[in-house]
Amino acid sequence: MASDQYDVIIIGTGPAALGAAFHLTGKLPSLSILMIDKAAICSGGLLNDCKQNYSYPIGFAEEYWTREEAERLLPLVEERLKPTLKMQKNLETYRRRAERVGAVLYDVRQAHVGTDQSKFLIQRLMDELAGRGVRILLEREVTDVREGAGGAEITIGGTESLRADTVIVAPGRRGFDFLRRIMEQLGIPYIDNIVDVGIRVETRLDNYPIVRDYYDPKFYFPERVRTFCTNSGHARVVLEHYEDFSLVNGHALSEKKSSNDLANFALLKTIGLKDPVRSGHQMALFLGRLAHEIGGGRPIMQRVGDFRMGKRSTAETFNDDLYSFRPTCPVTAGDLGLAVPAKIMRHIWAALKKLDTIVPGVLHPSTIMYYPEIKMYANKPSFIDTHFRVSPHLYMIGDGAGTSRGITGAWASGIRAAEGIVQARK
Ligand SMILES: Cc1cc2nc3c(=O)[nH]c(=O)nc-3n(C[C@H](O)[C@H](O)[C@H](O)COP(=O)(O)OP(=O)(O)OC[C@H]3O[C@@H](n4cnc5c(N)ncnc54)[C@H](O)[C@@H]3O)c2cc1C
Repeated sequence: MASDQYDVIIIGTGPAALGAAFHLTGKLPSLSILMIDKAAICSGGLLNDCKQNYSYPIGFAEEYWTREEAERLLPLVEERLKPTLKMQKNLETYRRRAERVGAVLYDVRQAHVGTDQSKFLIQRLMDELAGRGVRILLEREVTDVREGAGGAEITIGGTESLRADTVIVAPGRRGFDFLRRIMEQLGIPYIDNIVDVGIRVETRLDNYPIVRDYYDPKFYFPERVRTFCTNSGHARVVLEHYEDFSLVNGHALSEKKSSNDLANFALLKTIGLKDPVRSGHQMALFLGRLAHEIGGGRPIMQRVGDFRMGKRSTAETFNDDLYSFRPTCPVTAGDLGLAVPAKIMRHIWAALKKLDTIVPGVLHPSTIMYYPEIKMYANKPSFIDTHFRVSPHLYMIGDGAGTSRGITGAWASGIRAAEGIVQARK
C-alpha cells in the first residue's frame, strides 16, 4: 500500500540504484523501499548498448576502489545480471604490439546485450524487485532532498513530499545539476575537477578487425588517453542532447540484428584541473558550446584523410571516392582543429597513430572523427564513510557522484551503500 514514509528511498533506477535495491531486499526483506525515476525506463548505459565489464579497474573510480574491494563485489553483480560472457582471441598479439608503442591493453571479462535487448533485461530486474515488495515510481522527478534529525525528506514534482530513514541519491551523469544543487543546499562539500574530453571514431569493421576478437578493447595510452565504449556489428554514433549543445556517443544492437559492418569507439583524454581552474563541468560546458557554435548548432565530423591534409571536411566531398561509407550520425562536416584544444587534439592524434600500429587500418582516410564526446561525471561529494555516506541519512552513488564509470562499477557502488545501511540498522 502506498505510504509517505519509507525505510529507504532510492532516487534513480540505473545500475547504482538497482545494486542497492537488490542488496537491501536480499539482506533485509522487511524494509519498505521506494525507487523513483524521472524517466519511463532507466536512461543510462543499462539501456544503451549495455556492455558489461567484469574486470577492475574498468568502470570503477580508482580513488574509491581497491582491486580487492571491486573483486569482492563483482561476482555479486554478475550473479544478478547473469551475463553471457564473450570469448576473446589473439590478445597476446595485440598486447605485444601495444607494449612496443608504450600502450597497455587490458584483458577484460565482457558481456554485450545490445540496445534492442537491454529493455528486456531491465524489465526482468524491475519485475524481480517489484516481486520483492519494492515500490517503483516512474516518470516522476525528484526536485528536492532535505535532511532532518530523524531522517530525510524528498519532494516529487515540486509538490508531493515523502519521508525516509535513509535516502540514496543515484541520479547518474544526467543528474549532475540536480546532485550539485542538493549538495549546495545541504552544505555537502564536493569537488569537480576531472573531465574526459575526446572524439568518437567511426570506421569500417574491416579497418578495425580487433573487434572480432575482443568486443570492447580497452587500450590505455600515454597522456591519460584511452579507448572507451567500442561498438560493432550493427553500430551507430548517436547524439546526447543537453540544454544548449549536443555531444556524441555510440551504441550497437545485439548480435541478433544484421551487421552494418561498422565499428565506433571513443578516444578520451582525462583532464585533472588544478588551481585556478577547478570545474570540469564548466570546462565541458564551454567546450560543448564552442563545438556547437563552430558546427553551426551540431557536433562536427571530419574524415581522417582531410585531417591529415590539414583541410576541413565538406558536405560535398564527405562521401567521395575513398570516403565510401556514410556516417551513421551525419552532423556538420568541418574542421576539428578549430574546436578541440590543441593539447587535447595532439595527445588524441598521437594515441590514434599508436593504435594504427597496433590495429593497422584504423587510420584509413575514410575513418570519421566526431567531436565532442565529453564525460561530465566528476562531481564528487566528500564522503563521511566508506559506504558513500555524505551525511547521517544520505548516500550518494553512481556515475553522478563519481563513484563509478560504468554499469558494473555503478552496481557495485549500490551494493557498498546498501552494506552501510544494513550495518547501521543492526
Ligand atoms: C549512451 C550511453 C551509453 C553507455 N553505454 C555503456 C555501456 O555500454 N557500458 C557501461 O558500462 N556503461 C555505459 N554507459 C555509462 C553508464 O550509463 C553509466 O556508467 C551507468 O549507467 C551509471 O549508473 P547510475 O546508476 O549511476 O546512473 P544512470 O544509469 O544514469 O541512472 C540514473 C537514473 O536516475 C534518474 N534520475 C536522474 N535525476 C533524477 C531526478 N531528479 N529524479 C528522478 N530520477 C532521476 C535518471 O532518469 C536515470 O534513469 C553509457 C552511457 C550512455 C549515456
